[in-house]
Amino acid sequence: MQDSFGRKIDYLRISVTDRCNFRCTYCMPEQQTFMPRSDLLDYTEIALIAGRFIRHGIRKIRLTGGEPLARRDVDVLIRQLGRHVQSGVLDELTLTTNGSRLARFATTLFESGVRRINVSLDSLDAARFRALTRGGEIGEVLDGLAAAKRAGLAVRINMVALKGVNDGELLSIAEYCAANGFDLALIETMPLGDGVSGRTGQFVALDQFIEPLRQAGRLAPLDHRTAGPARYFRHEPLGLRLGLITPMTHNFCGDCNRLRLASDGKVHMCLGSEFHVDFRDAIRSGGLDAVDALLQKALRLKPERHDFERQMEDRSLRLHRHMNATGG
Ligand code: SAM
Ligand code: SF4
Repeated sequence: MQDSFGRKIDYLRISVTDRCNFRCTYCMPEQQTFMPRSDLLDYTEIALIAGRFIRHGIRKIRLTGGEPLARRDVDVLIRQLGRHVQSGVLDELTLTTNGSRLARFATTLFESGVRRINVSLDSLDAARFRALTRGGEIGEVLDGLAAAKRAGLAVRINMVALKGVNDGELLSIAEYCAANGFDLALIETMPLGDGVSGRTGQFVALDQFIEPLRQAGRLAPLDHRTAGPARYFRHEPLGLRLGLITPMTHNFCGDCNRLRLASDGKVHMCLGSEFHVDFRDAIRSGGLDAVDALLQKALRLKPERHDFERQMEDRSLRLHRHMNATGG
């Protein structure tokens, strides 16, 4: 599949639910309103749409959210999608999770064909973690990470860079990752959604955030790529693979290869734009032919790039939806 700018589209992110058991301060407000459950696609509908996308050329799927492992019976969906990996039509099925329910699901994930997962961890300090997630227990996440390792899953830790909040912890998190054989990806905050107080003041460019890592050794660029936008480096002497995700300071839209299916059936063509097409009515009333036609429309309408820089400066341009609705 190609979009109208000639970019190859082979990656689908599926937001399994917009709900979450955490309320990370940079992601959503404390009193967040979620979609009514009646708006959600059921697992059969998600699998049908995903199957159709795979026929048209999607080779990688990531499950995300909200918290994907918080939706009831999510293992049913994981197993269903995993069959495409086992039959070879899908190269990869991956997951992004906050880790709190990972201990329960790690083995199922591996048995279903998942080999890599991303786990968000912005602090190793129990009190700071609880404050950042508004109630999360770090112990549960660490248990989940240990279970993932035992199950044979490769882990990348996602850490959002927050000035004055977790910048002092970068080295200890890097050491923790290196000691456990996890990759570490750092992410610049994006101005998504209303009511997320404090995020603008916490923004820090990764060039600046990684200074403690530069002082503690050398960073050499790597050729390693995943389906996502991270640029990778090797840190020595830590022996750590470090990914940098810089939507704000180094635009990567030119290489964008993805579409995002939200839990209500809307396909968002860009995280930073309101453009979307609605697959829920298509699958319910028009069947698979309607899905095929809409997919072509989605490709035609995919924007060239996000507009986060202007949205950061001008509040009136900001998108109302939060990261949990479309999936990170
Ligand atoms: N709940 C899961 C988790 O936290 O990993 C999956 C969904 S979460 C929306 C996916 C990723 O987006 C997480 O790594 C999270 O830290 C990141 N994220 C959320 N809001 C963000 C924002 N405004 N800017 C940058 N990253 C954000
Ligand atoms: Fe939930 Fe993930 Fe958003 Fe945190 S970042 S509130 S864990 S969806």
